[in-house]
Amino acid sequence: MRMLPMVKRWVTSVLSYQQAERLRSLVHAGLYYSGLAWLVASRGRRSATIFVYHSVGATGVFADNVVSAEIFEKQMRLLARRRKPVALQQIIAELKAGRDPPADWVAVTFDDGYRDFLTTALPILARYAIPVSIFVPTSVLGGSALFFDQVERVVIESAVDEIRLQTSKGKVEIKLGQRSSRSDAALRVALVLRELGPQERARAFLDLQAQCRVQEHGIPAGTYLSAADLPALPAWVEVGSHSINHYSLAALDDATLRSELVDSRAEIRVSRGQDAAVLAYPFGKPWSFDGRVKTAAANAGYVACLTTLTGVIRSTTDPMAIPRAAATASMVRMRLNLLGTYL
Ligand SMILES: [Zn+2]
Repeated sequence: MRMLPMVKRWVTSVLSYQQAERLRSLVHAGLYYSGLAWLVASRGRRSATIFVYHSVGATGVFADNVVSAEIFEKQMRLLARRRKPVALQQIIAELKAGRDPPADWVAVTFDDGYRDFLTTALPILARYAIPVSIFVPTSVLGGSALFFDQVERVVIESAVDEIRLQTSKGKVEIKLGQRSSRSDAALRVALVLRELGPQERARAFLDLQAQCRVQEHGIPAGTYLSAADLPALPAWVEVGSHSINHYSLAALDDATLRSELVDSRAEIRVSRGQDAAVLAYPFGKPWSFDGRVKTAAANAGYVACLTTLTGVIRSTTDPMAIPRAAATASMVRMRLNLLGTYL
């Protein structure tokens, strides 16, 4: 079950991000406690589920993407007790063999390469013997910050209260308000900038910096994994690619697209001694990967690709566009996802 995209767009246009999240939580609670979700599950919508996490701790512009260590532990305990945690490769192998992966299988994945994966999530995963796959944009391994984190810092530290950006994907005119409530504004800026190609995104970011009068993005060292961290990861951690620079791949020309796919894979092979078999599309939404991107990924040697679209995983699922359920701090939402109700 998915909220109609138009309703979603309307909700996000009239409500702030936090208000929309509260509304969403109410809908989730209604579905869960009314028993409606079980009704949906009994209609055969339950399937293997792949969860996507980002940060366990306090990193990230999307509040949705951050789960505390306590909640993460609770969620892993739930998966270990109620489902069968498997390596992502097992689910992919079932798809490649043309079989439905068993409905009680779950796989855990992490995108974006935040270092709290290593310091906070990994010990918890080890405690519950849950295999994991991480998808790293390789630019962070050399010390670059992700652009949406940079946008967040610049907006939060802005010396002005109002910004105007004109891009080919739309206009952003936004009042930033109090420093304490600027995450919502940062998210709105990031949502427009994320669809742009490299040159335009860089130009828009420079414009944003100039308007906000912020020179440094101020992202602390150690926010992301480094190249030195990868060889030390245990064998039960699969390292996959999340491209190099976290661009919307569909916005790239052929040569840049190929480099983002091939060079990130090569860098992971150098640090990890093993090719990345799987790619998680940056952003993972339909506007960020199309047929051309899927073909380029196959040509670059990836055997499967992950999206952030929700949906059941069946033998008929396209291995180059596998759905994943967003892992949030909400236990109710996690239970709904496990029942096949994605909202
Ligand atoms: Zn990402």
